[in-house]
Amino acid sequence: MIDPMSVAFDIDGVVADTISLFIEIARNDFNINQLQYEDITSYSLEGIGGIDQDVMTAILEKILNGNYSIPLKPFDGAPEVLRRLGQSYDPVLFVTARPYPGPITEWITDNIGLESGAVEIVATGSFEGKTDILLERNISYFIEDRLETCVFLKDAGITPILFKQPWNRENQLFYEVSNWQELEALIEY
Ligand SMILES: [Mg+2]
Repeated sequence: MIDPMSVAFDIDGVVADTISLFIEIARNDFNINQLQYEDITSYSLEGIGGIDQDVMTAILEKILNGNYSIPLKPFDGAPEVLRRLGQSYDPVLFVTARPYPGPITEWITDNIGLESGAVEIVATGSFEGKTDILLERNISYFIEDRLETCVFLKDAGITPILFKQPWNRENQLFYEVSNWQELEALIEY
């Protein structure tokens, strides 16, 4: 069982359904219609569905800067679980590999319903940078969707919990959860 104070969260692919937003931006702004969520079986966005690298970069920039009108949605159950967690301790810690938080800070407060003082968001700019922050904050468990990051975490002594996604189905090493209900069942309030 997980002590609420010892857990932290990735954002994209765990709390926020960023890949669905990616697919919608590709469709609406770049006329790329063949992308399907289930087809995204590799985390590397390079080469997704044969998308041109410049288009890929443009879509990612839009996401990073909040330059989109389609809503970025939280995964089912994430707001409720995070709110309950926020009632037992604060701040709830989010660590993202985004280079800067940009619109995601406001997104978290708006969509999760936690006050800005009840959350802390750290943008590391790199996947590798997550471990240092987590160790500094005495975090023992991290919810993550990228397999390669789970390897870094484990090597640093942090227990990764993999949030199941089409792009991490090669997992054979890490404990995984399919949804936020399964994740909440691990937390000892
Ligand atoms: Mg992620």
